[in-house]
Amino acid sequence: MSTSSPRAGESGLSQPALHVLLAAPRGFCAGVDRAIQIVELALAKFGAPVYVRHEIVHNRYVVESLKAKGAVFVEELNEIPETAQPVVFSAHGVPKSVPQAARFRNLFAIDATCPLVFKVHMEASRHYAEGRNIVLIGHAGHPEVEGTTGQLPPGAVTLIESQADAERFEPEDPARLAYVTQTTLSVDDTAGIVAILKRRFPSIIGPHKEDICYATTNRQAAVKAIAGKVGLVLVVGAPNSSNSLRLVEVAERAGCPRALLIQRAADIPWQAFEGITAVGVTAGASAPETLVEEVIEALRGRYRITVEQVTTANESIAFNVPRELREPAA
Ligand code: SF4
Repeated sequence: MSTSSPRAGESGLSQPALHVLLAAPRGFCAGVDRAIQIVELALAKFGAPVYVRHEIVHNRYVVESLKAKGAVFVEELNEIPETAQPVVFSAHGVPKSVPQAARFRNLFAIDATCPLVFKVHMEASRHYAEGRNIVLIGHAGHPEVEGTTGQLPPGAVTLIESQADAERFEPEDPARLAYVTQTTLSVDDTAGIVAILKRRFPSIIGPHKEDICYATTNRQAAVKAIAGKVGLVLVVGAPNSSNSLRLVEVAERAGCPRALLIQRAADIPWQAFEGITAVGVTAGASAPETLVEEVIEALRGRYRITVEQVTTANESIAFNVPRELREPAA
């Protein structure tokens, strides 16, 4: 833990005091960092445009800054003209049909799927090859769920979103079942769903250590550590960012009366600060630190703040970018 006082001259004594607890780890994970690097390196090596299928990571600020450098975002490959320029697949992973379609069109594809999502794809494929029905614990419509489901033929994967789904699930062959999970789920909710599946289907096979990634786990643990000490938690992240949404839920369940998702400082709901003397701040895995700094500066503009960082884990994970981007241009 570390504490810093208000910077001299920046927070007047007439302003009300506010203690800010900053959760750590927060913000960018290794998979997001790698995906952004991939687009930036592709732009540097091959020039603009670099096409990106889906938001490379779920954050408008990141997407807009890459657009300004020459990235062109599309939802599907059929929006891309005939081109020799690269097309990057987002960190969330893609169904198998997408690289197949890219090969068919001779597109130059670079895959920014997070290695931890890729690991889940491999697990699901292995279970399928061994003749098991696959349960995927996750949220319908999320691109990661579509990508994982799309590794296997239609009907091979059953999506379970809740404990009620797990209670209702009637597999074809209860003796040949395996589960995998989305990487950005609530650790506690997922444990509840897995417990039901294991009770109902004792021979179900799962990952040795759950598929929820280190970054999701660490950010949830960090927000839990501050949630009971503040009257309000601000989670910096995007409304379509699964791990940011989970941080809001985790903060409230861990004892904070109110947790709110904001995309950046302009969204701070100042009316929610009524009677608040301590606020928690964290950020989802796709939110850059610059947006957290912007929030802290906005708080400093209205309050005499003291900032205390509460660190529950130190992260040193980094992933290599694909080989074609490590090699110098021909
Ligand atoms: Fe990879 Fe986890 Fe980051 Fe998703 S949240 S990109 S799985 S490290």
